[in-house]
Amino acid sequence: MPSSTCTFCSESFKTYQELVEHREEAKHFDKLYLCEVCNTRFSKQNGVENHFRDNHLPVSGKGKDDEKLNRMWDKGTYFTKSEKPEPKKEPNSDGTKRQADDNNVQKPPVKKVKKFDPTKPSTSKAGKIICCEEGVEYKYSATNIKCSGKKECRVRPGGSYMFADDTVYCMRCFGVEKRKKKDNILGDINNWRQLENVVETFEALKECGDCGGLWHESCSMTLATTTFICHRCVTGYSIPKIEIRHSCPLSQFMTERLNKLCGKPVTRNTGIAVVNFTSRRTVDLVADRPNHLKEQFRNTYGNTTNYTQRMIYVIQRTFKADCIFFSMICHEYENHAGTKYCLIDTLDSVPYFTTTATVSRGAAHHEIMLSYFDFMRRVGYEKAHLWANAPVQGDNMIFTCHPMAQKYLSQVELEGYYEKMLAKGEKSGIFKKWRNFGGFKEDVESNLRKKKDYKGIQPIHIPIFEGSQWEYFNQKYEPEPEDKENSEAANFMRKFTRNIPDNLTNTFWMDLKKRDKPMDPELLEGRRNSHEDLGDKMSFLELCVENNWEFSTLRRAQFATMGIIDVINRFTVVQD
Ligand SMILES: [Zn+2]
Ligand SMILES: [Zn+2]
Ligand SMILES: [Zn+2]
Ligand SMILES: [Zn+2]
Ligand SMILES: [Zn+2]
Repeated sequence: MPSSTCTFCSESFKTYQELVEHREEAKHFDKLYLCEVCNTRFSKQNGVENHFRDNHLPVSGKGKDDEKLNRMWDKGTYFTKSEKPEPKKEPNSDGTKRQADDNNVQKPPVKKVKKFDPTKPSTSKAGKIICCEEGVEYKYSATNIKCSGKKECRVRPGGSYMFADDTVYCMRCFGVEKRKKKDNILGDINNWRQLENVVETFEALKECGDCGGLWHESCSMTLATTTFICHRCVTGYSIPKIEIRHSCPLSQFMTERLNKLCGKPVTRNTGIAVVNFTSRRTVDLVADRPNHLKEQFRNTYGNTTNYTQRMIYVIQRTFKADCIFFSMICHEYENHAGTKYCLIDTLDSVPYFTTTATVSRGAAHHEIMLSYFDFMRRVGYEKAHLWANAPVQGDNMIFTCHPMAQKYLSQVELEGYYEKMLAKGEKSGIFKKWRNFGGFKEDVESNLRKKKDYKGIQPIHIPIFEGSQWEYFNQKYEPEPEDKENSEAANFMRKFTRNIPDNLTNTFWMDLKKRDKPMDPELLEGRRNSHEDLGDKMSFLELCVENNWEFSTLRRAQFATMGIIDVINRFTVVQD
């Protein structure tokens, strides 16, 4: 960040922290000149004189308030001179809510005089929210609550619901259950309470150590838990931007590709930064198979399979502030029944990517996925997979609290979104071939047709991954009681075959194009970026919830990003 200048003595400092320390030590309050219009303070009279002339004195003299301002200048009433103030109190740093009428709030070190402000009728700032339009009680956002009624039913933020014994029903589903004469599962109706889906916690406030004004934590854009000097009290203030300390060949590759797409030179304040963190997982891909298939699957997959869970975060940097806008979780099986397989397991975005004339939001998202697959093929990965599984509007996949207005893609739209990405990838030589499950099934069956006992596609022909669509089918499968005509194998095959028509278009199967000169696989395998908070979906979610980081508004997302970058830099190595 640029140097910060003290508004009292005009001394410059390299860092904001140094300025804060200087403010705490220096005795600037012997003389105090306060600008009547904007409340900026100066230690010398010529300071406020220069300030008023440069910032407020009308140039044309024709504006609405110009006459008033000119008169103030002529009469010398454009500033107030105050007495030595009371000693400073520690700003509110414990994250608790502080009421505007709280007696502890520091009073401003100025005499009560009639103030003038051309925009707002200004009174003193102390104890008042001065950062934005939101008040002291600025609530955090609620998110969808699952309703116990229909599968896709949610209680949306702000909605009412009925609650008893850890069970939630939306008002509509509750009404349906209540009207049921038979099999009414609500029990004693008096046990149910009506609640609202709102969060009652207010955003923490920070008190400026200088002017006493209150700032929402996210408006303050500072992670410091001690002294906070607000942006209005520091000349030439800009939001401190933390350098991202991260080095990984994959991240670097993706970063370069994205910046090339955006056509911007990469500087601290422009461009895109990609980071990724991993955790290792060992799974048994056979355990959930029905008994009659276990041996066959065991022969293919063995007792356990290892894979790397990789969380990729994409951050856009602008002059104002950094903001995360995309995240995806990839699974990398370095030996999946003899094949190197990678897949996108989960993907989430918040609509804060600043588009350019040539790069739309969708194009940026596609390039993130394509640059990932491109790197994977370069280090020798052979196949890739993804499941287009449209989330319910408002559900959180990776980011906590999306903006209410963000429209989620429908299942059909989501499939189209991936198809477009895959077509681009084929054109640019990343995929040798891609197809949905319908195409995959045809390929398998055309290979099998030559064989004598051809029976069409079988469960063993579909690669199985943790959390995949076919894994989901297997977990849902419940064996029926066997009888003479229907063996378990026959029952299973009937359900398996019946399940196929519903799932012809929602999974994608890609062959990655082989490179003539592959890169060293160690660039990937040797670089597992373990991180206790950022390498795993659940721990990332917990991190955000613990810190009240949410993505419901741009400002809150920028603040969350600042916190995430801080955590990125606290790189914690966890042994695999
Ligand atoms: Zn100073
Ligand atoms: Zn001023
Ligand atoms: Zn605010
Ligand atoms: Zn419901
Ligand atoms: Zn201030």
